Amino acid sequence: MIKLCTQCLYIGHEESSIYRDSTTDSVLWGTAFFFSVAGAFETFLWFPATIIFFVALLYSIGGYTFKACVCSKCHSGSMIPVQSDKAQQIMNEHGLIPPDYITVKNEQTILGIALRTIFIVLTLILVLYMLFDHFS
Ligand SMILES: [Zn+2]
Repeated sequence: MIKLCTQCLYIGHEESSIYRDSTTDSVLWGTAFFFSVAGAFETFLWFPATIIFFVALLYSIGGYTFKACVCSKCHSGSMIPVQSDKAQQIMNEHGLIPPDYITVKNEQTILGIALRTIFIVLTLILVLYMLFDHFS
């Protein structure tokens, strides 16, 4: 999400989004998905599949928590969404115009999140099915 820093008036992504390694994230979820699919057929894989699923889940949660923070210019934790009323007001006061790429970027992010969510939900269903199958 594009945000406005109320300290230095920087408009852009938060610093912490850089720390979030999307490749590691994709690899982890890919592995988790692979194991959960394999685990649906080979029930002895339920344990590694569950472990990898939780590692991927924790990594994602960690990433999101981390993402909620600082400005990449002044490192203060005072960034607010550009769509918010307060941000609009500040931008008007200082004659700031958010760059055009914001809307495009947001759409891409929404699509990315939607695909990711479907992928995570699929993995979750498979893991739950596997656990149910193993313990019932
Ligand atoms: Zn700042």
